[in-house]
Order: sequence, then C-alpha cells, then structure tokens
Amino acid sequence: MTAGDSVAGRIAAWPGSHTAWHRAQASLAGGVSTGLRASMPPHPLFFHHGAGSRLWDVDGNDYLDYVLGWGPVIVGHSHPAVVAAVGEQLRRGQTFGSGHVLEYEVAERLCARIPGAGRVLWSNTGSEAVQVALRLARAHTGRRRYVKFEGHYHGWTDPMLVSYRNLAEDGRPVLGSAGQHPGVLADVSVLPFNDSAAVAELLSQPGSDIAAVLVEPVLCNTGVLPPAPGFLEELRAACDRSGAVLVFDEVITGLRIAAGGAAERYAVTPDLTVLAKALAGGFSLSAVTGRTDIIEQVTSGVVHAGTYNGNPIALAAAAATLDLLSGPDVYPHLEAVSAQLAAGLRTTFARHGVTADVHHVGPVLQVSPGITEVRTARDVLAADWAFYNELIVEALRRGLFLLPGGRWYLSTEHSAADVAQTVAAMDDALAELGRAGRLPVPVAEI
Ligand code: PMP
Repeated sequence: MTAGDSVAGRIAAWPGSHTAWHRAQASLAGGVSTGLRASMPPHPLFFHHGAGSRLWDVDGNDYLDYVLGWGPVIVGHSHPAVVAAVGEQLRRGQTFGSGHVLEYEVAERLCARIPGAGRVLWSNTGSEAVQVALRLARAHTGRRRYVKFEGHYHGWTDPMLVSYRNLAEDGRPVLGSAGQHPGVLADVSVLPFNDSAAVAELLSQPGSDIAAVLVEPVLCNTGVLPPAPGFLEELRAACDRSGAVLVFDEVITGLRIAAGGAAERYAVTPDLTVLAKALAGGFSLSAVTGRTDIIEQVTSGVVHAGTYNGNPIALAAAAATLDLLSGPDVYPHLEAVSAQLAAGLRTTFARHGVTADVHHVGPVLQVSPGITEVRTARDVLAADWAFYNELIVEALRRGLFLLPGGRWYLSTEHSAADVAQTVAAMDDALAELGRAGRLPVPVAEI
C-alpha cells in the first residue's frame, strides 16, 4: 500500500506471523526475544524488512511504523547512509578489542553536543549504562542509596526495576520481577515525579546517604510526562546542596527531543547522562557522558568492563546517525510531524466521542484513552488500556504498527503524507469499533 490508498481494514489475519510465532515458542521462551514483545496484540508480528518509515511483515503486509524498534530507529529503517557506513566498517573488521578512530571521533561529537559531557563511556544497552552510572555515583560520593521516581524505567537490572509498573499506595518501593534481589529495596527511595519538595526534603535529611538521583527528565516510559516548570532546576539545586550525583536517563530523550536531548531542551545540566536508543540508529550502543572527574574514576578503581564496549560497527552506525541528526531541519521536522499527528488524533478521537489525552514532547507522542488530562504516572496506569489494545489491532489491520501502552515514536522519515494517512486509518479503525459497539462511553457521560 502506498500513501493515498484506501485505509479500510485490509488485513484479516496474519497467518505467516502466527505460524512463525508458534514455531518460535519451541525454541524461544514465549516465542519472543524480550518478554514485553509477547504482549503485542493480537500476537507478536514477524517482520521481513523495513525501509524508511515502513515495515513489511512475513505475510507481505506493509505498515507505517510508530514502534521504531521501541525507539532506536530515529532515522528510519535501513537509511542508505547508515547502511553504507556499517558496510564499509564491516569490510574492515568487526571488533578489535583495542582502540580505533571511531571510538574517540564519535565521543568528541557527543562531548560537543551533550550538555555537561566532558568524557564518554561506551557500552551496549541502556540497562548496563545506567548500572555503571550508579556505580560511578556511589564511588564519587562514598554513599550507598539512590532516588528514583514512580513509573520511571531505567532498565531491567535488580537495583533499577523498582516501582515501575507496580506502585504501592503509600509510595513504598516495589520489586518488579520474580527472582529480583529484595535487598535492593533498602537502597532506594522512590518519590513521585515532579515533587521537588519531596526530593529536597529527603536529600536534606542527615544520614539520607543518597549517592544519586536518577530521573527520566521527560517521563517517557509512563505517559511521556514533561517535567513540571522548575522541577529539573530544583533537582539540580538539591543535588548541588547535598553532593548527590544527578543522573539524567536520556535513553529515550537523548538526541531525540533536541540535538542535546532534555538537558538542552530544558536548560538543566546533569552530572551524568545516559544515552542509548537513538544513538546508533538501530544498532546496539549506549553511553554515559558527563563530568570528567566522575567518569575518570574508571581509571582509578571503578570497574567498567565489556567485550563489546566501543564496538566499531555500532560506532560507524552512530557516526552516520549523528550526521543525519545534524541538519538544521531535523528537529523542526520531528516536532512538526509529531504536532500534526497529535492534532489529527485529537480531532479523530473527538469526532468519535472517545475521551483521550493526546500530547507529545518532540517526536515522542502519548495517547492515554479514557482520561481528559494526564498529570501523573498513576493517571496513565489507570487509563483504558483494554480499549486501546482493541484499537491498535484495528489500526494494525489498516497498516499502522503501534506500541501497546500508548507511546508513539516518529522518525526523520515520517512525512506529512504518512501522518495524514495515519490519521485517516485511525479514523477508520475508530469507526469500525463504533459500528461493533466497542467504543468506550465518553468520560463525561459516566
Ligand atoms: N532507560 C530508559 C529511560 C529506557 O527507556 C530504557 C529502555 N526502554 C532503558 C533505560 C534500558 O535500555 P535497554 O533496553 O537498552 O537496556
């Protein structure tokens, strides 16, 4: 299907994906490589290839892609410049276990681009980069405990998977996984996002022993909630007063909501920044950037290891991705297509009498069905996700690949025509649900 074709439900079922998923279950746990993917309704799809803003599944259906690999594919699938850079590096070797030019050339570019970046540590995933940031903070302060916020995700490691989806009424830290070490609960204080008074109070307590405050500066993982005016500034001030290390987890926001991420957009410089996803345009690469004195500790006692750290293939992809993310029109374009999509979705939901909060920060957009205005992570968790799961299956039938949970990512390759097609497809999906009597009752009528 190309832009302008009919958006009426054209996919009845996914026999190829269904067969692949059943076969995969005999060799992969749940038939997927990461547990969350098993929750994609109606069942995980299996893809054959992608190009630009589109994906093709093994049944030959094509989709406008708003999943983007759960974030990394910011310059679109198989961008020729990324493919060429990676191909060239592949001919020269895969990994050296020693120095090479790309590792410092790309680091220099991050130092020029990310506020507060004096040094760069390369690693492979967001989870491991967060782990080394916490270790650096503990070594720097000689303290043990850390602060995170409700609904914030910093990877799947034992210390970090706390109070992400399961939140206690009284704000107590809650483990996120069976098998997780319960001892981590003694080390973490979980506070409500945007409650700067709570942070200031905790950090001012004698003996609070806080080494680090970790925050998604925009709470992308639960509702794409922006920081309240002044919140990041107050975190900065509280950390300055107490000596705790301020860590911005910019795994999603980095290089995406501005050239220099949230630190640039909100003009607050953390001590350490964690980057991943958009960094290498789809390849596995993460980084910690930040204060030289904190990061240089890896030369004097802090262990940071990794066979694949500074991998040349990933860095070749990163160099090409940074080139593509350096044009003057990149961020205005991402902002414009995202605003167009948000406006179109709002109009469409309203036309069908469906209550939903739709908002975006740069090219990260959130739909929260059943809620007029989302303010907190708890609001987002209470949204009407049963309805949304039905909606995204109808959207899938009309050629839109969407994440469960309401978050949408746009790439540099998404055009105004793509967005217009998307809004028409969503309109048709909502009309179909309306005909079937499956639209929720508007909130005002309850
Ligand atoms: N931090 C944030 C803010 C994230 O969104 C994620 C992944 N979604 C991570 C850390 C963990 O990154 P990874 O999946 O690469 O380990």
